[in-house]
Amino acid sequence: MSAVRVWKRLLGVERGTVIESVELVTDGAEQVVVARVRPTRRQRLRCSRCARRCRRYDGGHGRRRWRTLDLGTVRAFLEAEAPRVSCREHGVVVAAVAWARPGARFTRAFEDTCAWLTAHASASTVAQLLRVTWRTVTAIVTRVVADLAGRVDQLDRLRRIGIDEIAHRKGQRYLTCVIDHDTGRLVWAAPGRDMATLDVFFDELGSRSEALTHVSADAADWIHTVVADRAPQAIRCLDPFHVVAWATDAVDEVRREMWNRLRRTGKTSQAKTLKGSRWALLKNPRDLTTAQRTTLAAIAADNTPLYRAYLLKEQLRACFAVKGVDGRRLLAGWLAWARRSRLAPFTKLAATIARHLPLIRNTLDHGLSNARVEATNTHLRVLTRRAYGYHSPEALIAMAMLTRGGLCPPLPGRAA
Ligand SMILES: [Zn+2]
Repeated sequence: MSAVRVWKRLLGVERGTVIESVELVTDGAEQVVVARVRPTRRQRLRCSRCARRCRRYDGGHGRRRWRTLDLGTVRAFLEAEAPRVSCREHGVVVAAVAWARPGARFTRAFEDTCAWLTAHASASTVAQLLRVTWRTVTAIVTRVVADLAGRVDQLDRLRRIGIDEIAHRKGQRYLTCVIDHDTGRLVWAAPGRDMATLDVFFDELGSRSEALTHVSADAADWIHTVVADRAPQAIRCLDPFHVVAWATDAVDEVRREMWNRLRRTGKTSQAKTLKGSRWALLKNPRDLTTAQRTTLAAIAADNTPLYRAYLLKEQLRACFAVKGVDGRRLLAGWLAWARRSRLAPFTKLAATIARHLPLIRNTLDHGLSNARVEATNTHLRVLTRRAYGYHSPEALIAMAMLTRGGLCPPLPGRAA
C-alpha cells in the first residue's frame, strides 16, 4: 500500500486516480517509466467539457499514453483507457481524466511546468529541458492559457485602458491589444486592426464600458471612432511613446536626407560618419554609450540641422516627462520651434501634433502610466520577432497572455 502512495505522490496523481502498476518499459533505444492508471469510480465516464456523468459510448482509440514530468532523468508516462462518452449537451466526446486536459497528450503537471518555464526561460531552454519541440510548447501554452482564461474574468474592474496595434508576420498581420493601465496587464487581444475587431472587445466588456474613465491609444482614427461611440464618457489620450516615436522617425528622415545629399556631392567620409550615427541620434540619451555620446557631440559641433532635429525630438520627450501645465507650456513652445525649424519632417510633425492636440493635452493632464503600456508594447514586439515563429495568431496571443496577461500557472506541487 505504501508503495502506491509513493508513486501517486511522485506522479502527481493524488486525486481521482487509481494506479494499477508501474513498470520500466523499453521505448526505442530508451527505457521509460509507464504507470498504468484509471480514474476512480467517482471520476469515471464524465464529459471532458462539462464534467457531467454520461453513458459510455465506445472504447475510443483504446489505451493511450500521456507524457508526465520526468522521474529523475527518466521520461515517464501515464497509460490508461480513453473511452468516449455521450453527453446530452456536448455529444460524443472523450471521457475526462483527472490528470490531463481534454485533447492533451501531456499531463496537467507537465503542461503547467512547461507553461511556467516558457514564461521564465528562453524557448530553446524549455524545449531542450523538457525534450519537446517548439511547436509542442506553443500548443501546450495555448491550452494552458485557454484553461486559465476560462476561470478568471480578465475584463473585470477595468477603469483606465490602453489600446494598441501590434504588427506581426513582418508587418503583414496585426493584433489589437488592450492593456490595463492600473495593473500593467494585457487583458485582451485579437487578430485584426479595424473597427469590427475593437467592437468585439466592447461587446465582451458589455455595460462595464461605462466604468471606463480613460482610454489611451495611438492616433489611429478607427480606435478613437469606436471608443467615442462605445465609451463616450472616457477621456481619450494619446500614448506618449507613439508621439515620441513619430519624432524619432522625423530625426531619421532628416539624417537620411543629409546622408543622401553628402553622398551625391562626393563627401563620402562625412556620409559614412553620418551613417554610423543612427543609434546615437535615435536612442534615449540615458542609454547612450560613450562612443555614441562622442558621435552626438561631433554632430552638435558641425551639423546644425541634424542636431536641431535631435534637440526637437528630445524636447518633445521632455514635454511628456514634465506633464501638466508645465508640459502644455513646453509643448506650445515646441510647436512654435518645430514650425520654424526649416526641417520638412518636423514642420509636418508639428501639423500632425497640432491636429491631435486635444488628445495630447489630455495625456499631459492625466499622466497615464505610459511606462507599462510601452513595456507591454515592447515585449509583444519582441515576441513577434522570435525566430521560432508562431503557426497562428492564437498561439502568439496565448504566449502574450502567458507573459503579460498574468495567465501563468503556478508550478505543480508547490504551495501557492
Ligand atoms: Zn458535456
